[in-house]
Amino acid sequence: MRGLKAEIKVSGIVQGVGFRPFIYRLAVSRGLKGYVRNLGDAGVEIVVEGSKENIESFIEDIRREKPAPAVINRLDVNFQSREEGFREFKILESLDKREKAGSIIPPDIAICDQCLREFLDPSNRRHKYYFITCTLCGPRYTIIERLPYDRPNTTMRDFEMCPECFREYTDPSNRRFHAQTVACPVCGPKALLVDCRGKEVPCRDPFVEAGKLVSEGFIVAVKGIGGFHIAASTLKSEPVRKLRKAKYREQKPFAVMGRNLEAVETFAEVGEVERRLLTSPERPIVLLNKSREYYLAEDIAPGLHNIGVMLPYTGLHYLLFEGAREEPALIMTSGNLSGEPIISDNEEALKKLSRFVDYFLLHERRIAQKCDDSVVRLVDGKPTFIRRSRGYAPAPVRLKVKLKRSVVAYGAEENVTACVAFEDKAFLSQYVGEVERLEGVEYLDRTVRHLLRLTGARPERLACDLHPRFASTLLARKHAEEYNCSLSQVQHHYAHALSLLAEHDLEEILAVVCDGFGYGVDGKAWGGEILYCSVDEWRRLGHLEEQPLLGGDLAALYPDRMAYGVLAKAGYEKAEEWLLNRSRWLPHGRKEAETIMKTFEKGRYLTTTSAGRILDAAAAILDICHRRTYEGEPAMKLEAKAHHGRRVLDLKPEIEGGTVKTSGLMIALMEGLGRFRVEDLAYSVEEYLAEALAELACSEAERLGLKAVGFTGGVAFNHHITSTFRRRVESRGLKVYVNLQVPPGDGGLSLGQAFKAGMEK
Ligand SMILES: [Zn+2]
Ligand SMILES: [Zn+2]
Ligand SMILES: [Zn+2]
Repeated sequence: MRGLKAEIKVSGIVQGVGFRPFIYRLAVSRGLKGYVRNLGDAGVEIVVEGSKENIESFIEDIRREKPAPAVINRLDVNFQSREEGFREFKILESLDKREKAGSIIPPDIAICDQCLREFLDPSNRRHKYYFITCTLCGPRYTIIERLPYDRPNTTMRDFEMCPECFREYTDPSNRRFHAQTVACPVCGPKALLVDCRGKEVPCRDPFVEAGKLVSEGFIVAVKGIGGFHIAASTLKSEPVRKLRKAKYREQKPFAVMGRNLEAVETFAEVGEVERRLLTSPERPIVLLNKSREYYLAEDIAPGLHNIGVMLPYTGLHYLLFEGAREEPALIMTSGNLSGEPIISDNEEALKKLSRFVDYFLLHERRIAQKCDDSVVRLVDGKPTFIRRSRGYAPAPVRLKVKLKRSVVAYGAEENVTACVAFEDKAFLSQYVGEVERLEGVEYLDRTVRHLLRLTGARPERLACDLHPRFASTLLARKHAEEYNCSLSQVQHHYAHALSLLAEHDLEEILAVVCDGFGYGVDGKAWGGEILYCSVDEWRRLGHLEEQPLLGGDLAALYPDRMAYGVLAKAGYEKAEEWLLNRSRWLPHGRKEAETIMKTFEKGRYLTTTSAGRILDAAAAILDICHRRTYEGEPAMKLEAKAHHGRRVLDLKPEIEGGTVKTSGLMIALMEGLGRFRVEDLAYSVEEYLAEALAELACSEAERLGLKAVGFTGGVAFNHHITSTFRRRVESRGLKVYVNLQVPPGDGGLSLGQAFKAGMEK
């Protein structure tokens, strides 16, 4: 019987996941002849010859049995009756052919079970080898410089394989057949422990030694997969205090890495979904509630009811714990200076961190792309991204519709991610973070260019925030000129709402968007918005009451300013007395308090509708937080208090026109002090905001005949507010939509911006 030839093109995440070796084995086992090769657009091409039935069931098996980390977005087959007469099946050298098929290399993948077994096996030649990997696990995104995903295009090219590794690499029956990250103690990158002056510390195993030093109370910078971590003991208070002082990080919580799941369960509550997240190949940091028996140094996550925890995700981490025998967990915080991106380079680490780091654990492999850890939290029962980065980026968010054009979006100013989108895929970058200073802007610039290179996209339109002076806006303008394309500026809260349309394939939505700050179309500070939103049109239907922002940005740093403004505006009699009693919390004391009062009297201030600022004001009135040392601090500490609270204030939602009133709420809080527990008052504030916003949102949705109500913005990280809001809206027969694939905070903005620019007329 005559055979057929089939040309198969597969796109998705098919390079760097053991796909070619898988195809090879499958084809050989079926007696099919031909070849498989990587293409320059991150896709894979397969050509086979054989009978039609055999080829068809081969294709079925590709879909059914593909390696776990592979994602097939598209598989096109083209049958031809003419055979070439291949004599065998081969893996050919990659072809630099590009079609912009929407393929991408995978995110970094945590060490797999098989590699971990070898790592722990004393008879294995990779026993305790810190960079043990295979076709199914290891770094991908962080080592790639250009496509296709072949060793010479990664930072592994600096390490020539030894004969033994090469044998594995070329043996089709080996599980490291064509594993680009293959390495061993003989040929792989070497590691080195140095002191803060860069002088080598002689030791048998630098990792175990580093772990020992950490448990003795030293601070050690550890070069990992996507950048440096700073490691410290979780049982001693001194290193944490030292770290805080040096990083100018008074209160911001540090994430920890648990030794294993059992160890984590001794200090935190781990539910079923959280357990799955913690042990997933993505290995994000998961925010867990501290358990009753919580015993780690109190300064790690001060004033909060939860703590960020991750599990080891590379051999290196297991070795650290071998040295740090007594530690149930280690502080593993991003190695950076405040406001700057994570450090990924040995020299830079020594230069910038040696002021407070005692030792450096370095290795020779270059990090091509920086990548911070991801952070996930269960909100209202759903895993919600606080930060979508390592393990997830650059895998695309799949859209249900096809975009009209290729776009790039630049986010806002904090928690920035970039997004390159075309057709039905939105490729969000890793977490870039703060884009204010030069370092952040350069990082965003490089990230955009790299994503464009990896996806082969040619942008036709760019999108950024409406704020005229954000550094991301200025960068987008520059790129618009360079790429010669138009630029859409998308209002901040509208972009948040658009991210819900993009994720859930909705044409329109009534969205409640609550966050700290976004630039409004009237130039004012928005942040508690009720919007009608479709791709082509949006309207502001309502918002929180406008409250005085006394001293502009200072009002966000010192919540007492905010609280006073609300109380004074509400005509609360004892407002002045209250502020004067608080003057010790202001940097310039009584004098500053008097200036604040004067500013109010003269009406020389801007106003804000921000939900974040109202939560701040509540935190100040309840004596929970008087100074913001990190983004969201007062609101997070309020939430921590409310976690143990119940409803005591029976406030009816006060709505006037499109305005949700907040003045009465603050006065009720004031009057409740002393009569009720602070926990219960904190709970009641959150409850009021959620209910009042839900009330207004529902009546607007009903008026417009909309069935979909969204809740997004940074406040949507708050479990209590989000779940209360959802219950209320659902009780009216409407459906609630939240962000599931991107963060509801500003880390998800680039998706909304990209969706707008890609879909609009
Ligand atoms: Zn593996
Ligand atoms: Zn080797
Ligand atoms: Zn925002």
